[in-house]
Amino acid sequence: MRVAIYPGSFDPLTNGHLDVIQRAAKLFDRVIVAVAENEEKSPLFSLEERKRLVEESVLHIPIVETDSFRGLLVDYVERRGGHAILRGLRAVSDFEFEFQLALMNRKLNERVETIFMMPRDTYTFLSSRIVKEIARLGGDITSFVPQNVALALMDRVGISPKIHQKESTP
Ligand code: ADP
Repeated sequence: MRVAIYPGSFDPLTNGHLDVIQRAAKLFDRVIVAVAENEEKSPLFSLEERKRLVEESVLHIPIVETDSFRGLLVDYVERRGGHAILRGLRAVSDFEFEFQLALMNRKLNERVETIFMMPRDTYTFLSSRIVKEIARLGGDITSFVPQNVALALMDRVGISPKIHQKESTP
């Protein structure tokens, strides 16, 4: 039973994250999406909200489980019997930080490997930060995130979902 753990803030989950999860689901027997508390990043959504949004979005992939964790990632991976940490790589800009993180996690625990996956090219420009920014400015985010996330985002920034529905009707 090969278990991959996909950690992140997921504030909120985007179609880019979902693409990585779907690809990993073809390679592993179980994929655990582990939502990190990360309070120092002042997330827009609480830990419970971020976890619920992921849960609702992965219902169609049976081998995917959603969990949350606090503290050191390698300890969590050990506790859950994970074989690999999964991370997404969008562009060269992600590389330096991800490289440092992967090597540090290896220093902390030799047994844990990190696996990188590239999303579909149309998702390489997507990040939770940019999606939040567009939502705050009243832009249409419906093609960047699953529908449940789009509704939660519009609600959080105080924009009626009807605006974008009207725009898409001829
Ligand atoms: P963190 O705060 O840990 O970076 P994120 O939720 O922003 O958490 O991202 C989790 C992981 O998903 C990271 O490895 C990040 O590079 C990756 N990721 C984020 N957005 C995308 C995307 N659009 N396509 C592929 N991977 C992504």
